Amino acid sequence: MVNYAIAVLPGDGIGPDVVAEGLKVLRAVEAKLNGVTFSTVEFAVGAGEYLRSGDPLPEATFAEIAKHTTILLGAMGLPSIRWADGREMAPQIDIREKLGLYCGLRPIVLYHPDDSPIKGKTAIDFALVRESTEGLFVSRLEPYSLEADAVTDRLRITRAGAERVIRSAFQLAAGRRKKVTLVDKANVLPSMAYFRSIFDQIAREYPEIATERVYVDACALYLVQRPESFDVLVTENMFGDILSDLAAALVGGMGMAPSADIGASHAVFQPSHGSAPDIAGKGIANPVATILSVALLMDWLEHPETRRGASMIRQAVRTVFSDPSSRTADMGGQLTTTAMGDRVVAAI
Ligand code: ATP
Repeated sequence: MVNYAIAVLPGDGIGPDVVAEGLKVLRAVEAKLNGVTFSTVEFAVGAGEYLRSGDPLPEATFAEIAKHTTILLGAMGLPSIRWADGREMAPQIDIREKLGLYCGLRPIVLYHPDDSPIKGKTAIDFALVRESTEGLFVSRLEPYSLEADAVTDRLRITRAGAERVIRSAFQLAAGRRKKVTLVDKANVLPSMAYFRSIFDQIAREYPEIATERVYVDACALYLVQRPESFDVLVTENMFGDILSDLAAALVGGMGMAPSADIGASHAVFQPSHGSAPDIAGKGIANPVATILSVALLMDWLEHPETRRGASMIRQAVRTVFSDPSSRTADMGGQLTTTAMGDRVVAAI
């Protein structure tokens, strides 16, 4: 018998609602697996925790969380609760940086053709790999003044940071359709020309993988025109942040986009969306992104039984989505958050 301990961070806004459904699905799958169990411990992190204790990610809480290699997170931050300089609290990004979770994996899969805003698309299935510890986010915590004459952000690419995320993309593609697309702005930015040269070097280590290089602006166009042509895309932090929202739109919206932030020892699994304050407390958030993040978690554990559990979850989502009336409000349906979770559990 193997037990996997999972730290659960429900967070703010719709985070607790969608995490509850993710855990419901986790338990339903656990009941079907042989020799595998899960134990969960909840931690309070986020804007709510800031209001309670004055710190959205208390050091002692982080130390406890870090004892778990597997972390399930809902969503964090609320626009109404900010630091004095106006920035929103983002403990989920702090966790990513503190644990060195450099590989931001965002799989984009269309479960039913009716859910794409692009007509005639049936086979959208790609994975965006976003570098998550440097890039254009590197100066995010630096002090600045709204009264200054200029404020500058930096885009930092390190050789080690680029190599590890690009290698992750190639390794992922090796188990998929064997193609990696580099997304950059190498025609304008020196840091991106550097990123491309590192990509070219690593590509030589994987002769069986086809490569493509596109500028980020063209990539936005191609994602809409030919999303089926992509297998794995790799890019820097901010480009990945923007493109992953565009990519989510191709398959039904933020409620359908799971993510995993993976490092050398830890990984955080969470929906790609934020705390969605506009719908918080209404019970209508789509929990599927979180449920699919639980599938990513089970893949990452790399046990044959948890891998079987991951396939079970994806198949259950496919079954639920084959019925056009099984949709939450964001996708034009009427199911509540819990009703959607119940349908996935029933399909399992
Ligand atoms: P962040 O910057 O933390 O990613 P955000 O402010 O960009 O967050 P989200 O919280 O992701 O934005 O919300 C963007 C829009 O998508 C909102 O209108 C929100 O209601 C909607 N949305 C996000 N997640 C879901 C969901 N799970 N179900 C339904 N609608 C959602």
